[in-house]
Amino acid sequence: MNISATNMIDPKDITHNIDVSCRQARQAPERTIGIHKGRSDGPTLLCIASIHGNEPSGTIALHRVFKTIKTLNPSTSGTLVGLIGNRRAYAAGKRFIEQDLNRLWSCDRVRMLRNGIQNQSHPEPHTQAPEDKEQIELLVAMHDVFDNASGPIYCLDMHTTSAKGAPFAVVGDTLSNRAFARHLHVPIILGLEERLGGTLPEYTYQLGHVTVGFEAGQHDDPGSIDVHEAAIWVAMMSIGILNPDEVPASDTYHQTLRNASAGLPSVLEIKSRHALGEHHTFKMKPGFKNLHPVKKGDLLATENAKSIVASRSGWLLMPLYQGQGHDGFFLTKSIRPFWLILSSWLRRLNADAIAHWLPGVRRHPQNNATLIVDPTVARWYTTEVFHLLGFRQRTPSGDKIIVSRREHDTPRPHKRT
Ligand SMILES: [Zn+2]
Repeated sequence: MNISATNMIDPKDITHNIDVSCRQARQAPERTIGIHKGRSDGPTLLCIASIHGNEPSGTIALHRVFKTIKTLNPSTSGTLVGLIGNRRAYAAGKRFIEQDLNRLWSCDRVRMLRNGIQNQSHPEPHTQAPEDKEQIELLVAMHDVFDNASGPIYCLDMHTTSAKGAPFAVVGDTLSNRAFARHLHVPIILGLEERLGGTLPEYTYQLGHVTVGFEAGQHDDPGSIDVHEAAIWVAMMSIGILNPDEVPASDTYHQTLRNASAGLPSVLEIKSRHALGEHHTFKMKPGFKNLHPVKKGDLLATENAKSIVASRSGWLLMPLYQGQGHDGFFLTKSIRPFWLILSSWLRRLNADAIAHWLPGVRRHPQNNATLIVDPTVARWYTTEVFHLLGFRQRTPSGDKIIVSRREHDTPRPHKRT
């Protein structure tokens, strides 16, 4: 893929009817949905759609956006790129073929794949698993975008859910990710990446690119396409690719996002995940939607003939109503704006730099951005305090809690020793 190419969209690919999507053709679509390069240098917005193949909404929304941009011909600065995440699963209309492509982005795995790309030492494609091929192709396409960017890079990872409900944005909790997500007007969910390892947004924000995962609604709801489309336009306007004065439907796009999530908390934090095994018998009780308010003890699902009830009161997120997937549901709680403002202040003051002075807390011997917390001594410093300071919780090590400062949060670099 050459980034210098202009809009590559083929009008024949455009479909506005989700029921007649090109999934029915059973032929994997091109990786690149479109590239629009502005008249001058500026930010790059990389939109990745359908990394889960049963979520066509983002792909269709991108086709619409590229078509409209071509018609409007505005004086853009920077670049919009749209890529399909999992082409083969998209053609099959399945979340994935063999492995969830949105759980395969651990540092070690990506390093191995990139070394293979550079040394051309990967096994023959016909011997590779479907998602290995997808990830290698996607890595090449994404890094082509990154290498050719002329300004800051923003990534929008576009999803839908099996449940109905309001759209929401998922971010790794850095101040820049939060700021980008706030422009999109929908509830912001913090802490999901601590529960789900190896997601694509975690990979791109660890590269230093501002990243938001955007869930637009139910998989097959045409309204999800409208929400995705609005999010792409609002994202382009908010980061300066487009001047809102040149977008006739600018107000409509903002209003679409505001209306879709009216009355909901603006920021929530994941408090628990109901994980599912490989051969689960999980069945969600019908009628729940995203950001559904629940009370402690409410019946949520059944699994192995047992009732699953809410372990706490809060807001239900991503209740599973499809066969594939390993997350039954998540429970979240809203965060009051005071705590968000306080955490911004503390991070800008680099308060994390003295967190290891607290009793029961010490620096990791190999990484000064990581702390080892002894919960028997530091029992007053809950994970909420470390979240406030910009740390994320890692996999526990024995009886100790491991937390790491997120990189690319504040301007101060966090050197590894
Ligand atoms: Zn998804």
